[in-house]
Amino acid sequence: MKRESPDALGVDSQRCTCTGCPLLCDDILITAADGVEQACDHGSKTIHEALADELPSAAPPAEASADDTPIDRETAIERAAEMLASARRVLVTGLANAPLEAITAACDLAESLGAAVDTGLPESARAAGPTIARAGEVTAAFEELRDRADLVIFWCCNPTTSHPRFIERFVTPPLADGRPRQTIAIGPDGVMPDASSHRHLPLSRDLAVEAARLLHLRIAGRHAPDRLAGPLASDSATLHDAIRSATCVAIVTSDAADPVGLEAWSIVHLVRTIAHERQAFQIPLGAGIAAGGANAAGAAAACTWRYGAAGGIARADRMGSLFLPGESDARRLIDRGEVDAVVILGRLGGPLEQAIADRGDAVLLVRISDAAEMTRQPPGHTIHLRCASLTTATTGTMLREDGRRVVLAPSRQSTLPHMRERLVDLTGAVRQSHAVAAVGGRP
Ligand code: SF4
Repeated sequence: MKRESPDALGVDSQRCTCTGCPLLCDDILITAADGVEQACDHGSKTIHEALADELPSAAPPAEASADDTPIDRETAIERAAEMLASARRVLVTGLANAPLEAITAACDLAESLGAAVDTGLPESARAAGPTIARAGEVTAAFEELRDRADLVIFWCCNPTTSHPRFIERFVTPPLADGRPRQTIAIGPDGVMPDASSHRHLPLSRDLAVEAARLLHLRIAGRHAPDRLAGPLASDSATLHDAIRSATCVAIVTSDAADPVGLEAWSIVHLVRTIAHERQAFQIPLGAGIAAGGANAAGAAAACTWRYGAAGGIARADRMGSLFLPGESDARRLIDRGEVDAVVILGRLGGPLEQAIADRGDAVLLVRISDAAEMTRQPPGHTIHLRCASLTTATTGTMLREDGRRVVLAPSRQSTLPHMRERLVDLTGAVRQSHAVAAVGGRP
């Protein structure tokens, strides 16, 4: 779809950054009549809901407790602090929804509570840990792909469903030097319509690791074992020929349901081998609109900076935290009943919400989110601290999935505090309740 340049639109329009997925499209325009320009369907829906939530007539109670009883802001903070201070062990999660400033405040809260911290990213749940720590990665900014890659391989991924504007913004535009670009999709999805510039090589995702290994061996000029050379041989020959004809190769991937991270490991080694003879890099995409938040890269960076790992932190301590991938990830801590209170920033992915719902009243919840998430309260003792819309009324910084810094500028004013402010207030109240307990001689 051809999109009109924002600069060509009305002067009453305001730019907005869409937080509907980790692409963080910052060219969205909200018109004076609350029309949304440039966004994909998912982003447009997200922004329209945020705009509707900011209308005074549509606003639900500022805060709510478990039985949906409205309570005032100060009472909500006090009750939440009491809940957390009396919990046996707390988990802080959902960080990928928040700007970096709020993530930092959430880490302060976690340290005050000696809480576990997990961003909810798949790599924290793998016993082998993050791919980047095991094997490294050769990656690049999305604009590098747009401007330089004359061969783009979609490796068992489909950005059209996970990152709706990825192809429009970074693959469809012509290369900077005018060369033609070829694209190949290997995997279950064709990704783009068949054309002279695009081919689909159908492949079951179960065979993704074997396909990467076979292509790796072929590029390295090594003999392939006979069992690998069967049905995958023609696909690997096609890819090999395309890579040899290219100047710069981008391999776009997505997170697999891969408990030991073998698929990610095989792609890292394939890209590295290609990079020895020509420009090549990987563009690793996550779950996109199905992910737990738009700022997964920012959450991973903030936690790594502070604790040495992107998640799976058993106990938050900036002087030295314990990183236990596959042990202290949010899902396992909840499933095993190792936490009895959870602080949630924004929305979570479906499996984590389900895990919390399965625990019922056994887990206390403090949700800090905007109105868009208020209806998603699972059973349990919940305090909801409502904050300004993360889509239309928040200032702060996020990292796009490739690490590019994106500054959020509010397109609407809100009377509600920002998420960071709610966390700062809550941390203060938790510290206060610890201090009162210590003075009172509580063991
Ligand atoms: S691609 Fe993602 S960030 Fe861009 S408009 Fe759509 S949902 Fe929003």
